[in-house]
Amino acid sequence: DQKRKQRGSIGVFNETLHNEIKREQRLCERLRLAIENSEFTVFYQPIIDVTTNSLSSVEALLRWNCDGENISPAVFIPLAERSGLMPEIGAWVLNRALIDLSHWQFKPGLAMSINVSVAQLLDDSFFKVLDNALSTTKISPERLYLEITESVFAIDKDLVTKRVSELVARDVKISIDDFGTGYSSLNRLQSMPFNFIKIDRSFIQNSSEESDTIIRATLLMAKEFGCKTIAEGIETEQQRQHLSQLGTDYLQGFYFARPMNANDLISWYNENY
Ligand code: C2E
Ligand code: MG
Ligand code: MG
Ligand code: MG
Repeated sequence: DQKRKQRGSIGVFNETLHNEIKREQRLCERLRLAIENSEFTVFYQPIIDVTTNSLSSVEALLRWNCDGENISPAVFIPLAERSGLMPEIGAWVLNRALIDLSHWQFKPGLAMSINVSVAQLLDDSFFKVLDNALSTTKISPERLYLEITESVFAIDKDLVTKRVSELVARDVKISIDDFGTGYSSLNRLQSMPFNFIKIDRSFIQNSSEESDTIIRATLLMAKEFGCKTIAEGIETEQQRQHLSQLGTDYLQGFYFARPMNANDLISWYNENY
């Protein structure tokens, strides 16, 4: 009896797994066609300078509308990574975001933050794509901030370090994203020429002594390393006040603005500044 029960549950498990795999395959086939079917859009979320209260940069966030359904990047980015589509999708984002920035007149010198995944950073085409996007749009490299997550260093430390120094040589700025959630050693971080540290929103949103301790320690460390800090996920006036008082340099979150399409970003700017 016990055995039959086990076999039964294994059967159910197999079926669930099978359906999962099928779903992933279907989604992956659609993702492969998303660029040529024009299903991608880039949204932009403001990042605010605490001392001047002005708009400093915007973060490009990819959106995918698949048959009327918005699929979260938290779902399709990892899928793109697994299925080898990330270099091409990443290249598309880089071009789209820099073209948009080059067209905008509302805020001269505005910087663009773009997320770069491991697969994209380590791909052979990466610098060709980057140099091409910068030269065709005539955007100066200091206005481009590339966000990489801490965890990329767990993959191939030496190659990532080499890539990062090639970015520095080009004057592109580097942000370390979701800081505090990865498992990089401080020693490893110290040898990296980062310009910005983005404190993960989990530390901002679960307000506790422990989170504050981690935020304070991160701010101190950033100062030592000569990095600026950005707090992600500010949703309330209280969080805004708290993080500015702690001494964060830049703030980002729904409290200021949600990610918006290019037209809405311009309207938002004109209404607020
Ligand atoms: P991320 O780079 O850490 O981006 C910040 C995420 O937090 C975004 O989610 C943004 O919409 C969300 N967010 C911003 N402010 C708030 C807030 O106040 N409260 C809450 N609850 N959330 C907030 P999104 O757009 O769903 O993107 C999720 C992740 O997907 C990004 O995390 C990034 O890792 C990845 N991603 C998005 N676009 C791209 C892309 O073009 N390339 C790559 N490689 N990854 C991307
Ligand atoms: Mg990011
Ligand atoms: Mg982040
Ligand atoms: Mg994140």
